[in-house]
Amino acid sequence: MRRSTLHSLLVERASDLGVTFKWSARVTGFDRRGAFVNGAYTKCKWLVGADGQDSSVGRWAKLSSKGPKFSRFGFSRHYAVSPWTDLVEVHWGPGCQMFVTPTADDEVCVALLSHDPGLRIDRSLAHFPAVARRLKGAHALTAELGSVTALGRARGVVNGNIALVGDASLTVDGISGLGLTLAFQQAVLVAEAFAREDMAYYQAAHRKISAAPCRMTRLLLLMDQSEWVRRKVLRLFARKPAMFSRMMSAHLAQTMRETLDTTEMLGLGWQVLRA
Ligand SMILES: Cc1cc2nc3c(=O)[nH]c(=O)nc-3n(C[C@H](O)[C@H](O)[C@H](O)COP(=O)(O)OP(=O)(O)OC[C@H]3O[C@@H](n4cnc5c(N)ncnc54)[C@H](O)[C@@H]3O)c2cc1C
Repeated sequence: MRRSTLHSLLVERASDLGVTFKWSARVTGFDRRGAFVNGAYTKCKWLVGADGQDSSVGRWAKLSSKGPKFSRFGFSRHYAVSPWTDLVEVHWGPGCQMFVTPTADDEVCVALLSHDPGLRIDRSLAHFPAVARRLKGAHALTAELGSVTALGRARGVVNGNIALVGDASLTVDGISGLGLTLAFQQAVLVAEAFAREDMAYYQAAHRKISAAPCRMTRLLLLMDQSEWVRRKVLRLFARKPAMFSRMMSAHLAQTMRETLDTTEMLGLGWQVLRA
């Protein structure tokens, strides 16, 4: 499904449920009782900061983390080319990864993650000859957009009637592919907390759903940092596809019961060492 179609469906559903959208509005200030939206004060019972990594709501509510984050640089661009697979491909290069996501019948999205702020998709294609061959002659449909991608969390996600959701509350490096999933899960949980009038519920549930994705992201970043670990892990998964499937379903698990616990992670570490 095209991103624009999904977007329209979500907006339609939210409008049916009574949500009012103020597109391109700027929030310039807020307090516990409301926010200035395009200069006009709008009262609220709850205030949710869903304003991204550098959340001003988080800073104001004293929820932002002061510690350093582990950050990298991400770039993405869409190309007019028929997808060659219905899977998301992750290609591993020296100190960088390239992802290819089929986004429509005639379009793919290519994303690059690296530690080098100067590396761009075109130059990095030298590390990914298989992708370069597929993209040969394809014209870019969008500009190359860049952003910092980090692994880090706010020091808390609730302060009184204020809650943080999405990257404002927790960012997982783009390599996990879980940023949006977590944001949607958090949105559902914060709504449940409103219904219960109990923000401690959101704080606890947020902690619970974040643990496994953070663990998995650290593992993936270890593969980025060590060629030795990367080779061992990929060799193990190539030899044991069932184990790879188990890891993938744990990674994408919708319930905590399906995720890998610490013992299983240690077991995996042991198998990697032996691979
Ligand atoms: C290169 C890269 C690849 C990624 N790949 C994936 C992937 O494959 N899958 C995945 O799930 N995630 C991926 N992510 C992560 C994903 O993009 C984020 O997790 C997601 O965008 C977080 O959504 P958000 O709404 O919390 O924050 P954002 O997307 O940052 O949105 C915050 C919004 O708040 C607005 N805002 C901020 N301040 C104000 C203000 N004062 N007034 C009005 N508006 C304001 C901003 O303009 C912005 O639109 C990737 C990230 C990067 C960088």
